[in-house]
Amino acid sequence: MDFVEQLKSSVDIVKTIGEYVRLKRMGSTGRYTGLCPFHSEKTPSFSVHAGHQFYKCFGCGAGGDVLKFVMEIERISFFEALKLLAERNGIAMPKREYSDPESKLRGALMEMHEIAAGVFHANLNGPAGAEARKYLAGRSVAPEHIAEFSLGLSEASGQQLTRQFESRFSPEQLEHSGLVMKRQDAGGYFDRFRGRLMFPIHNESGKVIGFGGRALRSGDEPKYLNSPETPLYRKSYVLYNLHRAKDAIRKSEYAVLVEGYMDVIGVYSAGVRNVVASCGTALTNTQVRALKRHSERIVVNFDPDTAGANAAERSIQMLLDENFQVRVLELEQDLDPDEYVKQAGADAYRGRLEAAPAYFHSLADRARKRFDMHTVEGRLQAFKFVAPAIQRITDRLERFAVANDVAHYLGVDEKLVREHFSKGAAHQPGPPPKPTAPLPERLLLKALLVSEEARVQAIPQLRGLAALDSYVTRNIFKALFSMHEDTLSVRFADLEGRLAEADRDLLSAVIFADDKVGEEKAVQVAMDCLGRLKAFEPQSELAALREQIRAAERAGNMQEAMRLSGLITQMDQHRKRSRSAIGTSAE
Ligand SMILES: [Zn+2]
Repeated sequence: MDFVEQLKSSVDIVKTIGEYVRLKRMGSTGRYTGLCPFHSEKTPSFSVHAGHQFYKCFGCGAGGDVLKFVMEIERISFFEALKLLAERNGIAMPKREYSDPESKLRGALMEMHEIAAGVFHANLNGPAGAEARKYLAGRSVAPEHIAEFSLGLSEASGQQLTRQFESRFSPEQLEHSGLVMKRQDAGGYFDRFRGRLMFPIHNESGKVIGFGGRALRSGDEPKYLNSPETPLYRKSYVLYNLHRAKDAIRKSEYAVLVEGYMDVIGVYSAGVRNVVASCGTALTNTQVRALKRHSERIVVNFDPDTAGANAAERSIQMLLDENFQVRVLELEQDLDPDEYVKQAGADAYRGRLEAAPAYFHSLADRARKRFDMHTVEGRLQAFKFVAPAIQRITDRLERFAVANDVAHYLGVDEKLVREHFSKGAAHQPGPPPKPTAPLPERLLLKALLVSEEARVQAIPQLRGLAALDSYVTRNIFKALFSMHEDTLSVRFADLEGRLAEADRDLLSAVIFADDKVGEEKAVQVAMDCLGRLKAFEPQSELAALREQIRAAERAGNMQEAMRLSGLITQMDQHRKRSRSAIGTSAE
């Protein structure tokens, strides 16, 4: 058995995926389901099969074995995934070089970051770190928290890392690291971070992939300097502290989103462990999805200043778009979470988190302050203030539920609300699945996927059709034919594995198009569709005509042969016209 197979057989896919996705066991079939980490969804279409050791999302089509999952979710190469799984499961990896240059580069960068984190941490704990330690003590960051968050200090000389790296790493690796910079004038490099308090940023598996550096002297600009985008660090993917917080997020069933490193450290150290930070900017949807794998409930607690409020507003929108249940905590007296915890204690903060109003209620509270709630007109105004946000809820039922709830909260007549939203709703039909292939092709494909009997009966006829090559779904059908030939059984994951990306997308679109085909009706549906496809078949008549032409030619009757050929041309044209007509009407 080669190493890959050996690794796969000793790693439990349910356990591995379970670290990234909340999985629920479905009976005793060995099947687990959860919300797909690769696309946005409300009801789980992501399944993991313990027995077959594969995963499949029937929503977006993602699927494969445990290595594929780790590659996709960590966005790393095959060899990196191999290494990561081996490490995590204590399996010795055979000594082999990373095979592709990209993983080799990332491997080197990973090593550089590990070295840098160690160097920074030692600086902070050493004699040069006295001033920085004083600053941290002033902000009540205890030594054990310095250790827990691996805080560090970058040396002011700007040569410390450069000296360590230059002899060990190539110029290409240096330049990609984001840790050192090339001198513009003379040759050589210097450290990017100089004289700053360093916050290591980890990926979800706990490896350092970047740093945030806070200025320690007033006047040092910018106040926060972060690692640039590197092959390791992609800002839009990373949430600060997620690797530490994820277990607590699952346990408490909600996450706390704050703005900065110090907020996280303050709140986390006080014992509120389900806390992550977006690092000052609005969330991206990749960050939101990373969170969603652990919980769909969140309390947003940004600084009350305007920049914070704007970032909060955009982040909240992103969270709502991903169907999060969002609550908003606004602390009084302009306190940020770190300061609040220090003043009032962790229990008080936890109480505030738990009592934080739902986003729509917090909006309604803002509206209450703005309008005269003693008058019907004022209450209606207040409602209209909240309405655009409600309007953006894509799910119709939920939109109505929230609208009614807010109306009730503001004392507005529900009937008015319904009117308001039935008008609005007309402009906002939910996202309809786009049928990408004509109906008979779609239904036939579905029937063939669910029923072996349908395949046995329909495939021999289908593959004989002359127009098959012009079908939108031809590649899927052909893959299905060869699987059917090989094994008779057709597994969705295997079928998909045989398709190019465009056809995979098409396949998922077909699977999730409105029309359902149950197994019990599959044979009938398949035969009906086949009949409809045959109606556009040129083959039977054409074949007869061609036979007649050959006969006429053999008999030397060229005039008759010409006449018959003319008929074929006519049929051809007619067929093209009617096909394009079906094509467009089925769009
Ligand atoms: Zn998916």
